[in-house]
Amino acid sequence: MPQLTTDLDLACARLRAGHLLALPTETVYGLAADARNPDAVAKVFRLKGRPSSNPLIVHLADAAQADDWASGIGPAARQLMTRFWPGPLTLVLPAADWVPRSITAGQDSVALRVPAHPVARQLLERFGGALVAPSANRYMSISPTSSAHVQQQFADSDLLILEGGECQVGLESTIVGLLPGQPPRLLREGMLAAGVIELELGQPLQGGGAGAVRAPGQHHRHYAPGTPTWRFRQAPPEALADPQCGWLWCGDARPSAGPSLDLGDDPDQYAQALYAALYRLDNLGLQRLLIQSPPEQEAWAAIRDRLSRASTALD
Ligand code: AMP
Ligand code: MG
Repeated sequence: MPQLTTDLDLACARLRAGHLLALPTETVYGLAADARNPDAVAKVFRLKGRPSSNPLIVHLADAAQADDWASGIGPAARQLMTRFWPGPLTLVLPAADWVPRSITAGQDSVALRVPAHPVARQLLERFGGALVAPSANRYMSISPTSSAHVQQQFADSDLLILEGGECQVGLESTIVGLLPGQPPRLLREGMLAAGVIELELGQPLQGGGAGAVRAPGQHHRHYAPGTPTWRFRQAPPEALADPQCGWLWCGDARPSAGPSLDLGDDPDQYAQALYAALYRLDNLGLQRLLIQSPPEQEAWAAIRDRLSRASTALD
């Protein structure tokens, strides 16, 4: 059974000894390992069941550390670091020559982020190095936003979990690629909206299309509950009458025979609560889950992205 702690010295000692540590960040809980220790990094892939083709994000204490990991950081990258770090933004940059290809999945780019969660920041400062920290869940399942979710994911392990309360952003970071000879690219949507980044850069972000940098690991099916999960615009009446159907609404819940959660119509609050709601509904052992499709506005883009990977469209 995983153990919970608030002891940063203990957490640091475990990392230095090459062990894994579950770590709270403002996006989701991460499964952290010393990024400079290849054996520790290999343990992350093993425990998650993550394919080695899916690269890891390197978490840093501050932007100054980025120069150790990336080479030739340009003005646009500096600008985004200054404006948005610490925070839920990951930058994909040219990797320094020494960076292990196990972290980058063989690519010559590396993904970097400075997290904002106070516990993550204190730990990174005390540790003094860098941590790889993909979401602390088994491959393809729902990312954890509380220590209880991490315990559920790795119930049969002796993982140490650093307690940090509920994650405040609740969805994985926005990923932007800034590579030589390419326009800035949006590689993954997150709650830091593309429009806000474009405003800062003074230019549009391109999609991650053909010929661009690869952002592997963005699988069509991802972040999914074990219960068959669908999304809808019009609630099917037969499902409303089915006590074995669970519901997740964004503002206009209707009476249903099965259990129902309404996360409201504010996208930030919805994102913060989404994964916890999916854990709760999934743990009920129902026959199916139905999720109300969120609105089309940009503020909901990252939520739509995650729901499209967690569910199948009904209408
Ligand atoms: P996460 O699963 O939240 O840890 O985020 C990891 C994701 O970041 C990967 O699945 C990739 O999509 C992206 N990523 C990480 N490293 C790189 C890289 N070197 N180049 C491009 N994308 C990357
Ligand atoms: Mg993940």
